[in-house]
Amino acid sequence: PEVKPVDVRRVLDGSVEMLANGLRSAGIEVTREDAPDPPRVMADEDELHQVFMNLIVNAQQAIEMAPPRSDVAARRVWLTTSAPGDGFVRIEVADNGPGVPEALRDLIFNPFFTTKPIGAGTGLGLSYCHGIVSSHGGSIGVGARSGGGALFTVTLPACAAKA
Ligand code: ADP
Repeated sequence: PEVKPVDVRRVLDGSVEMLANGLRSAGIEVTREDAPDPPRVMADEDELHQVFMNLIVNAQQAIEMAPPRSDVAARRVWLTTSAPGDGFVRIEVADNGPGVPEALRDLIFNPFFTTKPIGAGTGLGLSYCHGIVSSHGGSIGVGARSGGGALFTVTLPACAAKA
């Protein structure tokens, strides 16, 4: 891995760009909200990119596999970066799909855990994400998005000194 100070917003830009066509043809809108000037994180850019791609593709698949909801105006993915000032940078990937049932939230980061049909999912994506984020000294978790859907939160330690 090639570790250097990275602006998570730029990495997220690349991930979104790569998935934009697929999201658009699935009728999914992306809402992006960024911290104005977050500290950088020491990271391997390619590995972070893979993590964000996994989370965004999962969000898209969750939305697509769920029956359409009449109470939802638009299929949407929310991408948020924030810097709470606690020495960490936070990246959130949320969707308005069916969400992750509470009973499964401790299981989905295990290798080979999948609820997708045979052949559709390997169950390795989130386990990979967990490994990468941990190796960066960070953490990843899942909860419910207020308003319905899943909310994945990646927390990474900010660079000690501003470059
Ligand atoms: P896979 O996508 O191959 O199933 P993952 O490790 O990426 O493997 O995900 C494991 C499981 O976590 C999925 O099968 C699904 O049940 C659940 N999951 C992941 N992301 C979401 C999401 N955004 N909404 C609902 N469930 C999700």
